[in-house]
Amino acid sequence: MTEARVYELDAGYPSPFPMLLAGFQKMTLIDYPGKIATTVFTVGCNFRCPFCHNPELVELTPDAVASFKDGEKTFFDFLENRKGKLDGVCITGGEPTAQKDIVPFIRKIKKMGFSVKLDSNGTRPEILEEVFRDGLVDYIAMDIKNGIDRYSETTRVSVDEDKIRKSISLTMESGIPYEFRTTVVPGIHTEADFDGIATLIRGARAYYLQEFRDMTILDPRLKESAKGKTVDLEKVAERMRKAVKVVGIRK
Ligand code: SF4
Repeated sequence: MTEARVYELDAGYPSPFPMLLAGFQKMTLIDYPGKIATTVFTVGCNFRCPFCHNPELVELTPDAVASFKDGEKTFFDFLENRKGKLDGVCITGGEPTAQKDIVPFIRKIKKMGFSVKLDSNGTRPEILEEVFRDGLVDYIAMDIKNGIDRYSETTRVSVDEDKIRKSISLTMESGIPYEFRTTVVPGIHTEADFDGIATLIRGARAYYLQEFRDMTILDPRLKESAKGKTVDLEKVAERMRKAVKVVGIRK
């Protein structure tokens, strides 16, 4: 298990670019509830979830850094041309709040008149505090990886549990629409784990269970250990409805 880090501090891969972007999807009707949006992908994450579906957005390598040249300029040029045509921007990753310039980046997008949806793993509550305080984010989706006692095991890094708790409470008190969500992984999660998740987010507005899909993942060995195991999403949803107002399943 490695230490959870804000990767901007990693020695060895210093980047000359303010934001590390892998690219953007020009238009999405599903990433941002109720909005026509574009989705921008940041690179680098301080978790190592073995079930991560975007492994290419997790590790920051010298090659990856080199390929980001002009990414931010290209993205803002695109947005400039979409003023009045797109409603919003989804910022996802990787872990967007691990970017050292994430706040000015969001501020710039908001200044252009777009709504912002931020995806986060909740490891940097200080960033959430700032963007909520300054009204920079209009919707937040926070991953809940597991019950708090299994967080480090699930994300394969040493997790500061207080930071996760703080991000959850900041999100619930933010006054903006939000959702919590868990990718449910047979071989990692059991139905009993959701009692721990319910304890963490009791009273929340919305929670989504995301079905684990058999595709490229960060640690392919997980596929072996998950073989033959299942988690009944309907049963889990029923369990979670005792703690959360709206519970949905995404397949
Ligand atoms: S699933 Fe999310 S939090 Fe986990 S490693 Fe991938 S990008 Fe990071």
